[in-house]
Amino acid sequence: MAKVVVLGAGISGHTAVSYLSKALSKNHEVVMVSPNSNFQWIPSNIWVGVGLMTPEQVKFKLAPVYKKMGVNYKQAMALSIHPEGDAENEKGFVTIKYVAGADEGTEEKVTYDYLINGTGPKLNFEATEGLGPNKFTQSVCTYEHATHAWETLQASLKKMENGEKQTFLIGTGHPLATCQGAAFEYVLNVAFEIKKRNLMHLADLWWISNEYELGDFGMGGAYVKRNGYITPTKIFTESILKEYGVKWIKRAGVQKVEKGKVFYEDLEGKFHTKEFDFAMLIPGFAGAGMKAYNKKDEDISSELFVANGMMKVDADYTPKPYEEWRAEDWPSTYQSAKYENIYAAGIAFAPPHGMSKPMESPNGTKIFPTPPRTGMPSGVIGKIVAQNIIHIIKTGKKEHLHKASMARMGAACIVSAGYGIFNGQAAVMTVNPIVSDWEKYPEWGRNINDTVGIVGTAGHWIKLFMHYLFLYKAKAKPFWYLIPE
Ligand SMILES: Cc1cc2nc3c(=O)[nH]c(=O)nc-3n(C[C@H](O)[C@H](O)[C@H](O)COP(=O)(O)OP(=O)(O)OC[C@H]3O[C@@H](n4cnc5c(N)ncnc54)[C@H](O)[C@@H]3O)c2cc1C
Repeated sequence: MAKVVVLGAGISGHTAVSYLSKALSKNHEVVMVSPNSNFQWIPSNIWVGVGLMTPEQVKFKLAPVYKKMGVNYKQAMALSIHPEGDAENEKGFVTIKYVAGADEGTEEKVTYDYLINGTGPKLNFEATEGLGPNKFTQSVCTYEHATHAWETLQASLKKMENGEKQTFLIGTGHPLATCQGAAFEYVLNVAFEIKKRNLMHLADLWWISNEYELGDFGMGGAYVKRNGYITPTKIFTESILKEYGVKWIKRAGVQKVEKGKVFYEDLEGKFHTKEFDFAMLIPGFAGAGMKAYNKKDEDISSELFVANGMMKVDADYTPKPYEEWRAEDWPSTYQSAKYENIYAAGIAFAPPHGMSKPMESPNGTKIFPTPPRTGMPSGVIGKIVAQNIIHIIKTGKKEHLHKASMARMGAACIVSAGYGIFNGQAAVMTVNPIVSDWEKYPEWGRNINDTVGIVGTAGHWIKLFMHYLFLYKAKAKPFWYLIPE
């Protein structure tokens, strides 16, 4: 009998647990440890943030789904990993703390044969003074945040209906933030809602970003095929923002927020402020903050995690200049660099380096996006990690038949830019591979036939369709496994 413990019921962890429970017989145990009683389809939080969906439409209760799957679900936070066990336990274990139910507040040691860390990002609002929904800016990173953002946005819309001008500032809230795609989607949706109400003359809409050029999206930009022409994402993104009446500030490292005012430094080392009435700024991401200990109870966190708490896996972490970065540096099995029965899926794994060129201001402030960590690769990684563990359990052969390097994998990003069957819009971008590979594709860095950008109503339909499809899959409804990640 084998016991597989998965930490985090997000896109990667929930995908992993679904495949594990489907493939493994009842002789084996699959455990899920996650603090939120709900699964949330994060990409649709954008629509919660503009009042077009309710939180109920983007989430569902995990307990009944895990009951159906035969997964032992513990509503708890993982605190620490003990890969070598301790005086009482031969096996590796995780210390968890229950956050709800009769056991709330109590800690437990959960042993494992295989461990998957799918704890996603810690939304690191603390890294920027004054940032976040408890302070002076909004977020759409969770359905609670998005609900709060919509309440605040409504207040601004109301003021405009009464003839008052409003300034909107949307983008990245930390010099090294990623997830530009989500913020970009939100600014377009906010613009669309304002336009729909005929209030554009009272709106001053701003995009603020740590990107060197717009359209970098943390992947060093891309060349996309658009209407038969090859266009840099800089032009693609700027033309969309222009069309939506959004002005922009780029190369900006947000340092601090006060009520109605953002302080930022630019890449020339100059300091600026920007006033706002409504701001939604994505925070920096860090790892979940778990610690790791060896058998002697000594802290070995630095052996399992990089400095920001993301887990070291089968990547090449040797520091090297930007010009020497290679596609081969990227991991493909997500096995821990130190312990063979530990894996990290989704945002929890540490990328070997950025994809965007590192930039620094004369004051030494690093201002550039860290790599994008989108849902599609997170789901694919969750699946292949589960498939490899299933194979090892079933055959006893310690081999990885399934690989999924972000330098070999394509991804689609659908940025909705308005809602409605007939007037909804979306910008659809596909890239293949996600990490550009200038050796394999010397001309464009990627396979230009699969790297495409289009804008239109069809994209909106696809995004809406994906909302229902992925929630269907996550609920493990009949034939869920036929739906790709
Ligand atoms: C607003 C927004 C819109 C987005 N839109 C898109 C999109 O359109 N397309 C796309 O591809 N991607 C999109 N993304 C990115 C996508 O949501 C992420 O790539 C994806 O959620 C990452 O999956 P994950 O499993 O790594 O992390 P998550 O989905 O964040 O899941 C992590 C899980 O771990 C749990 N957890 C945290 N700490 C612990 C702990 N200590 N112990 C146990 N559990 C823990 C969390 O509660 C959570 O359930 C968007 C992101 C945002 C914020």
